[in-house]
Amino acid sequence: MTRSYLDHNATTPPRPETVAAVARALAEWGNPSSVHEAGRAARRVMETARMQVAGLVGAAPADVVFTSGGTEANTLALRGCGRDPILVSAVEHPSVLEAAERIQTLPVDGDGIVDLDALRGALRNTGKGAIVSIMLANNETGVIQPVSEAAALAHEHGALVHCDAVQAAARMPVDFRTLGVDVLSLSAHKMGGPKGVGALIVADHVRLAPIIRGGGQERGRRSGTENLPGIAGFGVAAASAEDSRDTVLGLAAMRDALETRIAEQVPAARVIGGEVARLGNTSCLALPGVPAETQLMHFDLAGIAVSAGSACSSGKVKASHVLRAMGLPDDIAGCAIRVSLGDGNDSADIDRFVAAYRTLAARVQAA
Ligand code: PLP
Repeated sequence: MTRSYLDHNATTPPRPETVAAVARALAEWGNPSSVHEAGRAARRVMETARMQVAGLVGAAPADVVFTSGGTEANTLALRGCGRDPILVSAVEHPSVLEAAERIQTLPVDGDGIVDLDALRGALRNTGKGAIVSIMLANNETGVIQPVSEAAALAHEHGALVHCDAVQAAARMPVDFRTLGVDVLSLSAHKMGGPKGVGALIVADHVRLAPIIRGGGQERGRRSGTENLPGIAGFGVAAASAEDSRDTVLGLAAMRDALETRIAEQVPAARVIGGEVARLGNTSCLALPGVPAETQLMHFDLAGIAVSAGSACSSGKVKASHVLRAMGLPDDIAGCAIRVSLGDGNDSADIDRFVAAYRTLAARVQAA
């Protein structure tokens, strides 16, 4: 059966150049902290990757702290900055929502955009010690948050700002300095890199306490011998992502065509977040009254990989916290799937998805 992978927000297939870089780095087996030649060779590989990752988001190589992925980067940001309270939007990834004990959530509007008045009010009450965490693009809806505005507001009140750019990096231009945040999270496997590696970008004025202590790697900010093959793959993936912005525009055109055809052929379907700026590759589609789990099974049988909510919670499909926070009732929040396009998708994938969606809707109606 021909299969269509439309779940790139869960993870992306590694790029061929990533696979090659990982293999090369496995052969470069020295410890990057060793002073001898083998160690120095490994360190060169690591520092090249650091430059490539920094380059993707316009940061300095010294700002990059390699981690085991987006989850650790988010945890390091929110615990390592030592700020209290932690103010986060209600649609953040669970790795932000559950990063620490004292998390205060900020409401979002019906489009999933954080309420800046609520942020202003919370900042007035908290004084200078807070950290604000707002994601750049949501993993379920693709909706883009007003991060720069939130950062300016937070800074006026002396707060620090973290941004989870795990989904946004490589799918839209991300510039660390223009965004105006203090710390920013990235993950390699959302951009054609390997799993289990990511980075926290840390501005040099931020004092970050490590959450993993030991040998003092990453300038004391994250101990543990570095995952050199993963880091090398991450670097190459970041460099390739920077070079392939055109692909992103092509994906947006395909996503728009998909939504137009679904609207024509299945009028009951509803696009969530479609009225505001979104990542070009993402579509969150609800078929009211048809549980997401039923939809996932139908698409899987049709050879199409999509997901409900975030991948981290699939397997236990429940109404998404993101859609609930947007005020959507259960017959929509529990009945939405996410289609996320990436390199390698073409119009045949869109045709297959639209046909399967139409079949599903017709079956449900007949039942
Ligand atoms: N943040 C967002 C917005 C995500 O979508 C994800 C993964 O789905 C993460 C963080 C976690 O990243 P990782 O899988 O690298 O731990």
